[in-house]
Amino acid sequence: MKRFDTYGVMVTGGARGIGEATARRFAAEGAGVLIADRDGASGARTAASIREDGGLAEHIVCDVADRDSVDAAVAWAAAAFGTLDVLVNNAYSCTDHHEDFGDERDEEWLLDLDVSLVGAMRCARAALPHLAKAPGRRGAIVNIGSVNGLSYFGNHAYSAAKAGLVSLTRTLAQTAAAQGVRVNLVAPGTIRTPVWEGREATLTAAARIYPLGRVGEPADIAAAVTFLASADASWITGVTLPVDGGILGSN
Ligand code: NDP
Repeated sequence: MKRFDTYGVMVTGGARGIGEATARRFAAEGAGVLIADRDGASGARTAASIREDGGLAEHIVCDVADRDSVDAAVAWAAAAFGTLDVLVNNAYSCTDHHEDFGDERDEEWLLDLDVSLVGAMRCARAALPHLAKAPGRRGAIVNIGSVNGLSYFGNHAYSAAKAGLVSLTRTLAQTAAAQGVRVNLVAPGTIRTPVWEGREATLTAAARIYPLGRVGEPADIAAAVTFLASADASWITGVTLPVDGGILGSN
């Protein structure tokens, strides 16, 4: 289905995993996609592969923890596609893995919050003036949160950052509405991405606790993101949409 007619879309962390699947889906539905990822080699490979499939995709090296890098990527997307209509805040950091709260480290918290939460703000701040100019009030931001931001599944700093994104989604939705820009969040459960590589036993065990009997695939999230960015969702803003195989309802 062609829902986007050469819309300009920027996906942070779009080189692999959920970001890659989202970029592919936007491109398959007719959008021009900028993959803004700090991993330039993977970003280039993914963009080339989307072009081979007949889509419109470019890549730029971008670190969402760096304001200049974000501003340059957003300007590049707007110039390359003529308009920037959709921002997907997908890049994240998860360095805090302590079981014992006494082991929490300031540096890990500051990094995880800086990339996952402040990074989304940096991208939204740079993109908003462009999104506000999108024809037909079609500007939209989709933040990628996590079930970790809504319930306890481990990783204190990561979860706090993801919970912060829920709040940013709600508050920014209110202020951006006057400019015709919608802001929503997708909260994935466990998704089979490169993050889980080599941990097949963990995924198999996880599948057993998901009410729908499996873990998610990146395409499950891409479908929700493209819906929230599309005209089909033109009266939806400020919401958090769990895409989680039913796990939140079960605990
Ligand atoms: P991946 O680790 O597979 O991909 C993330 C991509 O983002 C990588 O290419 C990574 O580059 C890039 N990236 C990391 N930091 C930055 C940065 N500072 N600036 C720009 N790009 C960056 O992640 P997933 O696809 O698994 O996850 C994507 C999103 O989904 C995240 O927001 C995550 O929190 C969320 N999510 C994922 C779940 C899962 O089970 N996979 C569950 C719930 C939520 P590099 O290779 O250099 O690190």
